[in-house]
Amino acid sequence: MELVIDIERLKQDFFELSEIGKNPEDRGLYRTAFSEADMQGREWLRKKLDACGLEVRTDGAANVFGRLSSSDDSAKTILVGSHLDTVPCAGALDGSLGVLVALECLRSLKEQGQDLRSHHLELVAFSDEEGRFGGMFGSQSVVGAVTPETLEYYSDLEGCTLADAMRRCGMNPLEALDARLDPEDIDSYLELHIEQGPVLDRLRKPVGIVENITGLFKWLIKIRGTANHAGTTPMEMREDAFMGLADFAHEIPRILEENGAESSRATIGRAQILPGAPNTVPGLVELTIDVRDTSKAVLEDLGQAFHRALSAIARRRKLMFDYEIQSEIEPTECHKDIIDALESEAKGLGLDYLKMPSGAAHDAQIMAQLTRMGMIFVPSREGKSHSPAEWTAWSDIEAGANLALRTLSRMAGKTET
Ligand SMILES: [Zn+2]
Repeated sequence: MELVIDIERLKQDFFELSEIGKNPEDRGLYRTAFSEADMQGREWLRKKLDACGLEVRTDGAANVFGRLSSSDDSAKTILVGSHLDTVPCAGALDGSLGVLVALECLRSLKEQGQDLRSHHLELVAFSDEEGRFGGMFGSQSVVGAVTPETLEYYSDLEGCTLADAMRRCGMNPLEALDARLDPEDIDSYLELHIEQGPVLDRLRKPVGIVENITGLFKWLIKIRGTANHAGTTPMEMREDAFMGLADFAHEIPRILEENGAESSRATIGRAQILPGAPNTVPGLVELTIDVRDTSKAVLEDLGQAFHRALSAIARRRKLMFDYEIQSEIEPTECHKDIIDALESEAKGLGLDYLKMPSGAAHDAQIMAQLTRMGMIFVPSREGKSHSPAEWTAWSDIEAGANLALRTLSRMAGKTET
């Protein structure tokens, strides 16, 4: 019998889950981490997993697992999943689709009597991927990156700490420290996710095979000049901090061209001119720059080039500058074995796939610290995400889910060719 998922059943699950946390007014989902709706979503998933005969457990970080055990107790585990939490006013696919596809894959393998001799298969739905409390909390817990300080340090926009939010859900936050998995027990991690960008949709490809996930650095830059009267200060005697910013912004395309790669991105997302009076030459400018690439070496080059550009501008315009590194994430490679397995199964299914980088961060990036990791992308219509307008054609979802199913089956040692 041909190994395929049941798309009608996947649709049914999707419509059920899409109602949990939905605001009828803006039609957005509000399942932010550790909210009541988020907990309802987790409960819904536990019931589903239980109903199809998987072994269900929830760890101390609120990650939900559903296991299809191998007959060999000493077998390693292949994890497959994503996250159930959402940003406020979210679409229904970000994270949820990866969890629903994992559910459908395990259910299909179980029903179709796949005898798992070499590996356990386990669904995982991670908590707080989206960052009500910093982000990737569930996967960070699983790889052992969470400390007691993490729990008290992170708080949401209302000032509620992660620890308090967990207590309100009836959990003991310190149990998150026990969520760590032993790398010896884990074989690999596979995640299906919507692309959240326009590339697959534009190229009309049903699936993407992710090769690497972008790294980034974020700087808070301060450019200092001298605030002075806009009427009495001659143009050539100014130390205008804003003109430093303007020069710097114009350097971006040149720096990306000379020091970047095709996957490089740089964005000034916020800038403030101080003192901010129309009749005053700006004395201080604060700006952020967010720089991304899939290569560590390219990111380092870009960092040096941005630094040099700031120095040259400061000299030319008689300004001072300094910056503080707000965050730094290393780029992550997907594992070659999993890319190869995905590619071979995509060919077998006759899918017109694209090998591509991920410009957004995912739990998979964290899981790479623990095990071999791979990702499947499905197209986002018009590149839209973090919005109720998020959508993917059912035919693409079906293609992605079947690719996940075949690849899991192959990785579990059942369809080795
Ligand atoms: Zn996501």
